[in-house]
This record gives sequence, structure tokens and C-alpha cells, in this order.
Amino acid sequence: MIAEVIVDIATSEVDKIFDYVCDGETKEGSRVRVPFGNTHVTGFVVGIKNDSVYPMEKLKRVEEVYDGIPALNEECLSLAKKISERYRTPMALSLRLFLPAEMRTGKVKEIYRKIVVLKERDAEFSASAVKQKEIFDYLLSAQTAEYAFLTKKFSASALKALVEKGIVGIERERKQRVPYRAVEEKGEKRLLTAEQQFALKSIRASAQTVQLLHGVTGSGKTEIYLNYIAEQVKEGRSAIFLVPEISLTPQMLSQLRARFSSSVAILHSGLSAGERFDEWQRMRTGEAKIAVGARSAIFAPLENLGAIIIDEEHDSSYFSESAPRYSTLEVAKIRAETNNCKLILGSATPSVESYLKAKRGEYNLIRLKKRINEKPMPEIILTDMRREVRRGNNTIFSTALKEQLEETLSSGNQAILFLNRRGYSQSVICTECGYVAKCEHCDVALTYHSEENCLKCHYCGTKYRMLTACPECGGVRLNYFGTGTQRIARELSKLFPAARIIRMDNDTTSGKEGHYKILKDFASHKADILIGTQMIAKGHDFPSVTLVGILDADMSLHFSDYRSGERTFQLITQVAGRSGRGKEKGKVVLQTYDPQNAILQYAIRYDYDSFFENEIALRQGACFPPFALIVRVMITSESEEKAVEVLKKVYFELEAIYQANSEKFTFFNKMRAPIKRIQNKERFQVLMRLKDNELLPQIYAVCAESKTKDVLVSVEENPGNLT
Ligand code: ADP
Ligand code: ZN
Repeated sequence: MIAEVIVDIATSEVDKIFDYVCDGETKEGSRVRVPFGNTHVTGFVVGIKNDSVYPMEKLKRVEEVYDGIPALNEECLSLAKKISERYRTPMALSLRLFLPAEMRTGKVKEIYRKIVVLKERDAEFSASAVKQKEIFDYLLSAQTAEYAFLTKKFSASALKALVEKGIVGIERERKQRVPYRAVEEKGEKRLLTAEQQFALKSIRASAQTVQLLHGVTGSGKTEIYLNYIAEQVKEGRSAIFLVPEISLTPQMLSQLRARFSSSVAILHSGLSAGERFDEWQRMRTGEAKIAVGARSAIFAPLENLGAIIIDEEHDSSYFSESAPRYSTLEVAKIRAETNNCKLILGSATPSVESYLKAKRGEYNLIRLKKRINEKPMPEIILTDMRREVRRGNNTIFSTALKEQLEETLSSGNQAILFLNRRGYSQSVICTECGYVAKCEHCDVALTYHSEENCLKCHYCGTKYRMLTACPECGGVRLNYFGTGTQRIARELSKLFPAARIIRMDNDTTSGKEGHYKILKDFASHKADILIGTQMIAKGHDFPSVTLVGILDADMSLHFSDYRSGERTFQLITQVAGRSGRGKEKGKVVLQTYDPQNAILQYAIRYDYDSFFENEIALRQGACFPPFALIVRVMITSESEEKAVEVLKKVYFELEAIYQANSEKFTFFNKMRAPIKRIQNKERFQVLMRLKDNELLPQIYAVCAESKTKDVLVSVEENPGNLT
């Protein structure tokens, strides 16, 4: 027989299928060791056939088949192929998505322990064989025991004698490494509300694959997911449950474990190599039926999927930022269709793209309008920071926020202070009137570039002179640097010396279970105030939080990004949703320099539909996604000369596409990337705006063919940022 093998070397030169002679042990999907050039490499069998076009005597043999069950099943193989075609990446790269990295390098192995089992139940012992009798008696009641335990407790030589007599046998047993052993099971089954029951019925009855669950924060979406998964598992099917951040997995895990115990497996990059490997194995063998994790868990090796859940579907983490730059929603949809199961997207603030699809009838739209128990949404108090400045308050905290904090602390409740650190990108804002410098052509905020001391638009490349005074009010207090969580913690402890404060940001969450510890401490009320960035915005359920302070709501509003309005709306809704989830009513204080802003006004009224109508009209008018596709081709290299060479070639070929289809383009230009160099790599880009995605395959093809050993050429679709 002949095995068609893709070797695990991700350069385009070797993205070819090689034939090797093999025997029956080699199956489609097997991970194998093969001779390659003058070394040996790991490869994946993507097909088995009887004949090769090459003469048999020229073919080399598969040397070793690694796993009992082929590492990749048929679905994974075909999905990998689709991903390769869609994003023009080598198969070797796409296949890697499906396997823990450790399996490719061969560094981790299953770990085993030696156990002793009783084979002869009615053995007789001479009076002198005391130790042997003791081991025998022990095993009579325990059935099996660990080898190491028995030798330590009794005697190694006695055990050896028992083995020699054939009374006991020694076997190997797979030992599982269990991640998050400390996560407690939590969550009793609840009687579903009428809204929840209706949602479940609607999912079951729907003819569409994709279900969009649009439910306000605290409306009990999780309970719907869990119930739907339970139904599917009962039918013998499996499920994937995606959350947007690793920090949310423990909380989901505890609810899933409470209902499905050990058939839940966890899959994300924060696990140790060994844990990841063992969890992957448990799924591949069918022992685990439910995968929970961040984006990469969409590639879980489960069969017969009955449901795929994507919680907080609008979250930007569902787009991969390294090759292949896949969209998790796209991949999930393919898997759902292949498995003939439902893909459930849930959010209180669906992405504009998804909501439009739902409104057009491509997705089944299900709404949950009320919080569980008719709990009111927390009241959002908007505070005008310009007025605070005028009144002489130059601190980070508005008067209203200080008052609310005081009240919260004195009543023994907890508060969350949210800081939009990603917004510390360098937009320029006038602290007196709230003016923000914007591009004349693109209506997005400009970004400050310190090296050239100028402002730039990341969408069209236009440069503007740096401002010294506000063009609207003439004020000179322009702010383009933000504050960090550390500074906030410091100022806060001056104001409230007795309060226990913890921070959660990239500096404080080192270690795999670092997030978990901070969140657990906060949940068990070991702190009164939690200060954090984006990490604390989502999903968490802390019943005694009655106050949320959003310190700089504007920051994300002025991102140099067409999605900044959408992101701001989502963020405010998400963060506000952390307040008042328990018995007591919640409040939110939102600090802004721009209180009249339409986005903020929709957000404080929780008016998603008006936000959506407004946003979609803007996008359509300005020809931004989802009415267009922004494509950026990035060319990066350590050598400027080589980068320019490739840039010329890529540009020349893309321009030919542009010339032939100019009616499909609304923008086309090449330029240096806004940040010219990152990690010593020179960066150039060709930026395009297309009316639809028809030309996308051609663009990918140009890029795939233009990259060289030293020059990377990548395609980004609707990139999350244009730095
Ligand atoms: P969402 O995911 O929509 O923000 P959650 O699923 O976190 O909302 O639910 C909010 C709260 O309501 C949680 O504390 C949850 O345990 C509780 N809850 C959900 N469904 C019910 C129900 N049917 N009865 C009582 N409490 C519920
Ligand atoms: Zn512009």
C-alpha cells in the first residue's frame, strides 16, 4: 500500500504530498515517522492508495506509526484542506491547528503508572510467606493497587515472588494529568424560565444552522447552552463550548463539570504541554465529549458534534492573528454543517455583521429581553469629565464615582473599576471640550506617532501636523497618554485607605492559573475593589458587585478604527453587565469627555437596536464592513531592500487585478505600515477596500506566490487594527 504523506515542515516549498510504502497499520490521518532527505521527520497521512505514479523501488517506507488511533479523523483532514484553500496556507500549517504542538515535536508522551492486579483469588501461602500473604489480602479487598505503593507498604521481594508465582500481574495504566483540578463544581440545575424554554424550542425547531442568541447580560444564556448540550450528549453526541478569554474557562468549567463531570475536557494555550496532550487524547478517544476553551478549541478532535457554542460571539479574540488567520465563526460554521448540528452564537451585543445576517434571515434570531427574575438592568450614570476639570477636579475619579464608591464600600458590597487600557493608543483628546483629532477623509481618530511627532490616519495614510492647541476651543490641555491600573490603584488607596484593592492586568496575571486565583479571591470577597482592563469586562458573575466604574469610556471610541463605535458600545454593555447581578440593585458610573455622543447615549439606555440602525447606516454610507471588505497585505522582512523588492512585485500584480476590476475597489494604495518597524522587521502594506469578497482568492494567490524565505507576505481581512 502507499501512504500519501504531508511532512510537518511549514515552508511552501515542501507543501507537497509524498508517497511512501506502508502496511495496514498506517491509516488515513495517522501521524508517522518518515525518512526525508537525509533526516527523519514527522508526517501526516492524508490518503492511502494502492499504486503510485513513481516506481515502487524508488519509494521509501513509513518507519513508524505513532498513535493507536489516527491523530486526525476524516473531518479534521477535510477541514484542514478547506482552511488551506481558503487562506492559502500550507497544509502542514493547517494541520497543526488540530494537534497540540507537543505531538509534533514528540516531546510529551503519555505517562503511565505500574499497577498490580490480582490474578489468582484462592492462592495458598506457607506460614513463612507473611509479607506475600499481606499483599494478597490487601489486593483481595482493593482489587488493584499501585506498584510503587505496594513495594513501599509491604515488600518489593514479596511482590516479586507473587508475580513469579503468577498470583498477581503487573499492568500499565494510563495516568491522566488533570488541569484545573482545584476548580470546584458549581451550579445546580434550574427550572428554566419561559423565555429560556422558548429559546430552546426555537433552536431545536430551526432549519438554519446558525442560531444567534441575543440576550441582555444576566438573561440566562449560559443555562440555555448547558441545556442544549445536555440534550445532545444524551443522544450520544459531543459539543464544543467556546469562550472569548482563557480567564473565563475555569468558571465555565466548574458549571460544565457539575453537570457532565469527567466528560468535559479543556483545551487552550494556557495549559501545560502534558495537560494539553492528555486532554486532547481524552477527546480523541471519545472518553471526553465536551470541549471547553478559547478560540483554538474549535479544532477539538471530537466526533459526531451535536452543538457548537460561541459565547460572546462579537469578541475580537475569535480572529486568529497569526497564520492561518482564520475566523473562528467561519470554521465553526463549516464544522456545524459537516456534523449537521447547530452553531449557537450568543451575545448581549452581537457584532454588527452577525446581527445583519440574522436580520436578513441567514441566522435564526432569538431574543432574551429580560434579566432572570426580572432583575432591572443597572442604572448608568454618565459623568461629564470636562465639567469636573472646570470645577477643579483633576483626579481620575469624578465626584459621582467617589460618592458611589463610598456608598458601596460602607454597605459592604464590591466594586469593579474598568480601565480601557487598549485605548491608550495615542489618540489626541482635548480634556477641556472633548475634541478628538480625526482624519478629514476617513472619519476615524488619528494616531499620534512620536518618532515623527505627527498624527496619522491608519486607513488612508494621510499625515497631519501635531496639535499644540485644540482647534475647537483653543484649550491647551491635550491628552494623549493614559493612566495605568497601577496609578489608579495608588490614587484609590489614598482615597479609601481601608479598602482592599486588587488589580488584574497583564502584569498581575502571570502563571497559568493566575487569572483564576485573582477572580476567586475577588469572588470570595477577599477584596473590595477590582481594578482591571479588558480582561474583567466579560462574562464574570460576581453577585456582590453593585458598582462598576468605567473610567475612560471615550478611549475606545476614538480608536483609529471603523469599529470603534461598535467596540465602545459592546464594552460598556459588557462591563455594565457585571453590576447588580445578585440580590441588590446595581449601578454604573461612566466617565466621559463627550456625554452627548450617540454611542454612549444608546449604551446607557441599553438600546442595542437603535445603536445597530445608526451604526449600519454609517457603515453603509462610508462603505465600511459589512458593506465592504478591508484587505491589508502586509509585507515584512528584516531586510528593507528585500521587502521593497517583494512589495514591488506584489503591488504590480495586485494592481493588475485592480485595473481589471476597478469597479470592485473603493480604495487601493501601497504605503509603509503606520508602525514602520516592529521587532526589527520592516513593514510595508498594500491597503484595499473591496465591495465584496469575490477577488479575495486572487489576492491570496498573489501573496502566497510572492513570499520568499526572508520576506513574509500575509493577508488580513478586516484587520482588527491597522498599526
Ligand atoms: P448571561 O450569560 O445571559 O449573562 P447567566 O447565564 O450568567 O446570564 O445568568 C445570570 C444569572 O442567572 C446566573 O447567576 C444564573 O445562575 C442565573 N440563572 C440562569 N437561569 C436561571 C433560572 N432559570 N432560574 C434561576 N436563576 C437562573
Ligand atoms: Zn484617512
